[in-house]
Amino acid sequence: MKTYDYEKLNREFETKPAEDIIRWAVKEFSPDLAMSTSFGAESAVLLHLATQIHPSLTVLFTNTGFHFKETLEHRDNLVKRLKLNVRELKPEIPNAEFLAKNGRLYERDPDACCAVNKIAPFEKGLKNYKAWITGIRRNQADTRKSSQFVENYRNELVKVNPLLTWTSRMFWDYAKKYDLPYHPLWEKGYLSIGCSPENCTRPVKLGEDPRAGRWSGTGKVECGIHTFLKMEENNPSSAPK
Ligand code: SF4
Repeated sequence: MKTYDYEKLNREFETKPAEDIIRWAVKEFSPDLAMSTSFGAESAVLLHLATQIHPSLTVLFTNTGFHFKETLEHRDNLVKRLKLNVRELKPEIPNAEFLAKNGRLYERDPDACCAVNKIAPFEKGLKNYKAWITGIRRNQADTRKSSQFVENYRNELVKVNPLLTWTSRMFWDYAKKYDLPYHPLWEKGYLSIGCSPENCTRPVKLGEDPRAGRWSGTGKVECGIHTFLKMEENNPSSAPK
């Protein structure tokens, strides 16, 4: 298995454009490479960037069964426009059955709901790949502030975060430049969009943090997809591929 000098790579990537980081990932890992998307407010940008470089890149979408109908419309719109190669991941228990058994678990225990409907299908889907490209940014949440461009997790997977230093302004400039469609709920104040129950996603008020509408009032800030894998603590600078 190949090893990487993560510290060196991350030093280099701090000054590289996102396209260079995606090209590196494609060269290193394709065809065992996928990107994930939620088809949320700013997803179109990474989808466009990545598929300009690798048109047939697998796009993983975890369909929890709780998405807004507008998100699914936005997904269909982007699939058509960018000719995306989407692989849909689904929970083991269909949504109607889950609701019948658990009711509004997303209100009582959102962590448990995310574990079953988001994390489990995503973790299972990731097993087919050696690397995973995400659209996370350092300025989205405290939990993302120390993220690196390339990360080694559990010596199983390489996570690639090419947009870490992007700002919202950069996203919208890029989307405008390439005339990319935006999520229909964005203009209604939904700046970060996840599942449709009100305690999972609500519109944000003027001056609020863009992610303030996610699990508002529950203390939860992440679904767990970006935190469920612990970073390799003993040897962060190199790991078998
Ligand atoms: S975001 Fe809400 S509805 Fe979606 S899986 Fe998590 S708790 Fe459940």
